[in-house]
Amino acid sequence: MTSALRLKAKLPTPLVALADLAYNYWWSWTADHVSLFSSLDPARWQSCGHNPVALLEAVPNERLWQVAEDPHYLNRLRQLASEFEAYRRAGQPTVQGHHRHLWASQVAPHLSADRPVAYFCIEFGLHESLPVYAGGLGVLAGDSLKSASDLGVPMVGMGLLYRQGYFHQHLNRSGWQEEHYAHCEVNHLPMELVRDEFGQPVTIKVDIRQRTVRVQVWRVQVGRSQLYLLDTDRSDNDSLDRRITSHLYGGNPETRLAQALVLGVGGVRMLHALDIEPMVYHLNASHGAFALLEVAYREMRYSDADFGEIAREVSQRAVFTTHSPVSAASNVFSADLIESFLGSYWPQLRLSREEFLALGNRRPDDPWDLFSMTVLALRLSSKANGVSHRHGEICREMWQALYPDREVAQVPIGAITNGVHPRTWTAPLMMDLYQQYLGDSWATPSVDSDRWADVDKIPDEQLWQRHSLLKERLIAYTRSRVQSARQQRGEAADEIAAVDHLLDPKVLTLGFGRRFSPYKRGELLFSDLHRAIRILAHARRPIQIIFAGKANPADDEGKRIIQRLMEWCRHPALRDRVAYIEDYDMAVAKLLVAGVDLWLSHPRRPEASGTSGQKVCFNGGLNCGTFDGWWAEGYKPGSAGQAANGWVIGKVNPDSDSDSQNRQDADSLYDLLGKQIAPMYYQRDMAGLPRQWIAMMKASIRSCAPSYSSDRMVAEYLTQMYAPTPPPTVSR
Ligand SMILES: *Cc1c(COP(=O)(O)O)cnc(C)c1O
Repeated sequence: MTSALRLKAKLPTPLVALADLAYNYWWSWTADHVSLFSSLDPARWQSCGHNPVALLEAVPNERLWQVAEDPHYLNRLRQLASEFEAYRRAGQPTVQGHHRHLWASQVAPHLSADRPVAYFCIEFGLHESLPVYAGGLGVLAGDSLKSASDLGVPMVGMGLLYRQGYFHQHLNRSGWQEEHYAHCEVNHLPMELVRDEFGQPVTIKVDIRQRTVRVQVWRVQVGRSQLYLLDTDRSDNDSLDRRITSHLYGGNPETRLAQALVLGVGGVRMLHALDIEPMVYHLNASHGAFALLEVAYREMRYSDADFGEIAREVSQRAVFTTHSPVSAASNVFSADLIESFLGSYWPQLRLSREEFLALGNRRPDDPWDLFSMTVLALRLSSKANGVSHRHGEICREMWQALYPDREVAQVPIGAITNGVHPRTWTAPLMMDLYQQYLGDSWATPSVDSDRWADVDKIPDEQLWQRHSLLKERLIAYTRSRVQSARQQRGEAADEIAAVDHLLDPKVLTLGFGRRFSPYKRGELLFSDLHRAIRILAHARRPIQIIFAGKANPADDEGKRIIQRLMEWCRHPALRDRVAYIEDYDMAVAKLLVAGVDLWLSHPRRPEASGTSGQKVCFNGGLNCGTFDGWWAEGYKPGSAGQAANGWVIGKVNPDSDSDSQNRQDADSLYDLLGKQIAPMYYQRDMAGLPRQWIAMMKASIRSCAPSYSSDRMVAEYLTQMYAPTPPPTVSR
């Protein structure tokens, strides 16, 4: 019996539809979702980490029966269940085998459920209840699967199931980050182990370290998309191999290489075992690049052609999205390690050691170069892209050496700017407002941007009132998180009580939430402490800021930044104005991006593309960031009759990123905050409304919502990168 059937058997008949909803993450991007599950048992909903399957299993029977007799609840359930049914049905093939009702069926008739896009990524961020993501890369992958589902683009995700997930962050009394891992109860997650017709788990084998590793797979439903998560934790594997997929980014180079083999080679074998024959292989970052070797290997078994010829053919179906703005990225392995793991693989590809290693070397003639997964992915994909236009330019420069016969401008790396899934990242209160003033169509995925002009129809009072509510909620949440963190650390009673004065809903509120690594410059605001205090603790125009984000476990410099931020949180002049929320995840992110007035983003240039600022736009917040990544395209200065949609820190395209650059950018940030941003925020009319600010909020929504939606992004991938390719020319 599948887990979903087991859950249904437990539920009172009127509630059976809850099981179907719980096993498909579609519920998480409907406006009504949270209340449907949380109202069953709000306290358990929290303690289950917003996992509906774990919730339904834990709620006492009396409570379930009580709800099963509540006509109001049953009505809502029926409503949502029928919406879900309609959503799923729209994806069913017609007799001709096409997905007729969906946007993508006209654009991409070459894709279908058994010939989909296979989307490989080392992490997927669908929801806080499925801890197989760390940050931006995973969230982008999750948002892509969701938009593909909404648009009707047949897509399956391929990733790894980490039973220990990503680490939880705890700051000790000296503000130092400590990491701990929570074992996740896979049987209570909303996914199913994939079994064959005899009820046995479907497995494939991958040779790693001279041993055969058996890999099984879990299926997660994401609307009409599926996410497959590969898992080596089986009793018939060696204990070392069982742990290959235990931690996300937790391992040494050996484990990372083993993970890359399971994801790439194992992923392709598993797709085959599931009878899925992808039309397109999309590598989101390079971790899955071995997939393309495996596809080539499968073709070579039926062909006399050499690897080069087959690889060219495979590359026609391969798309690679690169995320790094620097070439010395982490995803590299020593030749020795590659040899010990893949030494038996390259003869099967009819390659010599040197030929194989050259595939991952930046300079093919340099035997000492490290084997780079990015180089491998670039060599084996005919289409590649960066994640913003600026980033695309940087990638073309950075990788020109791989294309010695081409000018920089001709390097075949394009750009598709990141976007975020609107129905995931817009707070329900705002969704409701859009529904009223833009109509149903606001949530319908399409590539049409005109409808967002109707944001101007939203009355200022309403926009402001909803935004203020979201901000109050964020502040209440921040206080309770800070309070329990202080309690856990065993801080003094007055420290704990001081939380009551932390943050003020009337004060201009900034947000900064992302990984703490030195290049993101998380402490730029405090580069000059005296100036920072003058601005934040200003008597009439105060400013407060909420920080969140983890540092990589190995990044001591990042941890020191967090430690210094914790000092500012305790500084007598700043203690009510600066807050840090520990253990950043998607649940915190949703509250943060919806509740802040202004988002700060000031990484050292160049950066690929942030996405949090885009999430902020969908909720009416403003951005203040360096002219880089998506903001270099998204920023719109004001014009006659139109408000600007945010602010730019520092000079456009400066050429240095030294200490003096930090000073210039900090200077610029202080100037903006003190002279433009705070004065505008606190300028109120008779009704107490900051009219100019609200005009900017509308400009932010109107200009960014259509452009930085993952619907637009997936549509661009579909038309530019997933286009049908000419039939193979290789003779069989
Ligand atoms: C959106 C998101 C990120 C990515 O943030 P960037 O702005 O792209 O750096 C990271 N973590 C979480 C939890 C997110 O929701």
